[in-house]
Amino acid sequence: MAPMSRRRNLAARAGAPGGLAALSVAPAAAAALPQPDAGGKGGTDPGPRDPIRDAENPDILNPPATDHGTLPNLRFSFADAHMRRTDGGWTRQVTEREFGVSKSIAGVNMRLVPGGVREMHWHKEGEWSYMLAGSARITAVDQNGRNFVDDVGVGDLWYFPSGVPHSIQGLHEGCEFLLVFDDGSFNEDSTFLISDWFKHVPPEVLAKNFGVPASNFGHTPDPEQRYMFPLPVPGPLASDRVAGNGTVPDSFSFRLLAQAPVRTKSGTVRIADSSNFKAAKTIASALVEIEPGGLRELHWHPNADEWQYYISGQARMGVFGASGDARTFDYRAGDVGFVPFAMGHYIENTGTETVRYLEMFRSAHYADLSLNQWMALTPPELVQGHLQLDDQVMQALQKTRHQVVPA
Ligand code: MN
Ligand code: MN
Repeated sequence: MAPMSRRRNLAARAGAPGGLAALSVAPAAAAALPQPDAGGKGGTDPGPRDPIRDAENPDILNPPATDHGTLPNLRFSFADAHMRRTDGGWTRQVTEREFGVSKSIAGVNMRLVPGGVREMHWHKEGEWSYMLAGSARITAVDQNGRNFVDDVGVGDLWYFPSGVPHSIQGLHEGCEFLLVFDDGSFNEDSTFLISDWFKHVPPEVLAKNFGVPASNFGHTPDPEQRYMFPLPVPGPLASDRVAGNGTVPDSFSFRLLAQAPVRTKSGTVRIADSSNFKAAKTIASALVEIEPGGLRELHWHPNADEWQYYISGQARMGVFGASGDARTFDYRAGDVGFVPFAMGHYIENTGTETVRYLEMFRSAHYADLSLNQWMALTPPELVQGHLQLDDQVMQALQKTRHQVVPA
């Protein structure tokens, strides 16, 4: 069937009394909805439809003509993640169970009320964090008995190495943060909780361990009531410093927003990895800002998958997966994006406010390769021989990096 006659046929069926329209979207409303028919290809969609989803994903409903083939889903929203609510705050996670492509990294979005505590615990995975709102007090003790306590606010990072026990407590206005773990199979519901262990050791063994009578034990609160729970807001930081064997040699916190960014005409980039945030041995990160109309240039990463978290604004990402495969996804605040190892990609601000997002990699070091710089530093005759580019393009190539290119 020719495209035009097929489209007329669908439109006629949608308008027929008692037809598809009666079961799904009313004709008037359907006419106002975006249709998968851009560029003269496709046709109307008379329904059933999820118009909210369609509006959120314009580049899925009407992909650029350059999209082709099969790539896995590279977007998942925390809005679609189960919310675990407690007296101390809430938590939700995007792991490989929610977002199948993400084998290397899992993320958790957590809120603590003022004084709310994320229970003393540890886990197999290294934990990296970015503070999104408010402030918190964090504590940890390392394998050499050296301790750590600090207050962190918006734009600060922390990193707790694999197996190192720690806690997080909301301060006066509480807090919200993003946690990133260096394993996609991480599960926030199966960390090693101090109350859970106490609950599962005989009181006589606890008595021997601590050198006190067994009558001191046996009344540990249920771990379900401790996982996240309210306590009074703690006093000044100095009052929570415990003297002992000294502090950890490499701080577990890092002031990312205090770092002077690499600034270009249409945005900024700040990078934190083990070269400047020494403790962060398994997660490298970048905080990127793109002004309206701006573009995070065509590039790829030679070392790891990229896991993204969008903090503000609206963007789209085009990903090239070789073999003629390319797809485009749309993102907004609260969404997670993913780029499989080595795939080429760009990120474009499609909204009217600054796009701010985080890039995380399971690596000690941040690294990327620029398409533009690669071409600029290769013999021009060779490049032209491949792509038959005009001199104007060849002369515009940049030998130095512009991670966010001008609009
Ligand atoms: Mn943790
Ligand atoms: Mn990237």
